[in-house]
Amino acid sequence: MNTEIQKKLTELAYKKTIPFCYGDYIECPKGVCPKCGSDDLMRFLPGVGVEYGTAWVIKHILSEGLASVDLDEAFENSMRDCYPETTTIGFLKDYDTVNAMKELDPVGWRCAQADWESFEANDGNIISFDNGATYYQVSDIEGLIEEI
Ligand SMILES: [Zn+2]
Repeated sequence: MNTEIQKKLTELAYKKTIPFCYGDYIECPKGVCPKCGSDDLMRFLPGVGVEYGTAWVIKHILSEGLASVDLDEAFENSMRDCYPETTTIGFLKDYDTVNAMKELDPVGWRCAQADWESFEANDGNIISFDNGATYYQVSDIEGLIEEI
């Protein structure tokens, strides 16, 4: 996990939200509820919602500002960069190499894609904040943080 990005996004999530006491249902910009004195406060993101923690705020900021990575497409492109565009299998001349690999060994293709995804994530090129359901390009996130 890219901790630097995580840190910046968490800071951003704090900046974009206001501490909120759910019990008294009021904003507490000072970080302590003026009515009940609680500092165990939720985060309020105007126009979106109120919830504990910042993970949901980060998800919202990213989904608003960025397109997630199409992993199928990205993996396919990376494979296209690795191998010749066409290949010959027996009498099949100029067969699309990527299509051939997918069709001849679909299980192998999926395994290779899974390996590639973990490699890209470990390498810090892509990052997920929902256990791999959605990935974002780290460079896109950096750009978004700069913008904001
Ligand atoms: Zn309160």
